Amino acid sequence: MRHVNIPVFIPHLGCPNDCVFCNQRTISGHSDYDPERVKDEIEHALETVSPDADVQIAFFGGSFTGIDRGEMVYLLSVAKDYIDAGRVSSVRLSTRPDYIDGEILDILASHGVKTVELGIQSISDKVLAASKRGHSADDSYRAMRMISERGFELVGQMMIGLPGSKAEDEIATAQAICDCGAVASRIYPTVVFCDTELCAMAQRGEYKPLSLDEAVSRSRAAKSVFIENGVECIRVGLQSGENLTDGTKVYAGDYHSAVGELVDCEIYYDIIKDHIEKNSLAEKIKGRDIVIYAPYGEVSKVSGHKRGNKRRLQDEYYVKNIKVIEKKNILRYNIIIDV
Ligand code: SF4
Repeated sequence: MRHVNIPVFIPHLGCPNDCVFCNQRTISGHSDYDPERVKDEIEHALETVSPDADVQIAFFGGSFTGIDRGEMVYLLSVAKDYIDAGRVSSVRLSTRPDYIDGEILDILASHGVKTVELGIQSISDKVLAASKRGHSADDSYRAMRMISERGFELVGQMMIGLPGSKAEDEIATAQAICDCGAVASRIYPTVVFCDTELCAMAQRGEYKPLSLDEAVSRSRAAKSVFIENGVECIRVGLQSGENLTDGTKVYAGDYHSAVGELVDCEIYYDIIKDHIEKNSLAEKIKGRDIVIYAPYGEVSKVSGHKRGNKRRLQDEYYVKNIKVIEKKNILRYNIIIDV
């Protein structure tokens, strides 16, 4: 069944924190939030949703369980009415680890919340402190385990390239999210928005923004952890609705739309190489024409950015010609080579 989120953006309401990378108004793309208009937004979105879709109302954009309690319950009650009427199946929301406790989870459970997306960002205390996140790695472990143990779907959100973060911190973060029972994840290479503390740090030379190559290689390393652990990675990079819709200025990292595709191209190159090595095909494909069967809809990623994977295979293994053909019944992140 097709899954559809109806996003309701809740900006920086109630958040007393000031993470150095955050310009919440910018990220949500909505600065005129009005709780009274939430029903209208949902109604409007429902008009375009196919009747057989699995629909979740998704409270995104802020730290939902940290907003004013009355406001939170009001919004959840609005969503619950839609669940009770059979018009949506459940609720999903995003929040931060230190805004999760038993009482909050009771409220979420009684209002039809199924999925909790948790902004872990990093599992390194050093990185959390340098990013002024205002919570510790222990808070993240505790919240992730509570959410999983209570039977909610946990989605772990993490960032690449935060101040002081190294590739190994990011791999450890991805592994921690998997170990704590997440069903899915999102990876966000750090975008430096203007008018944030991170932007000032970059201007003072205290923070070096990620290059596109670094963002791709480090996101790829983290995503590989999720693939190995069977944890779906919903997305790499900010979604178009999450930024830049209102003339927002980006100081560095304005590659958000490309990075996810580039990461998958790199991952497929690793998968092809692995397949060649494991099946001892290197000698067999030398000087030959080969066909690579790709999962449905993945031909461009298997071929690589600007067909780069094809070129690399020709250079590395002296393959003559390569055809990439999509085939049903091949699972994502798998390929078959026919010589
Ligand atoms: S907790 Fe979330 S909303 Fe609050 S400052 Fe940090 S990133 Fe922004």
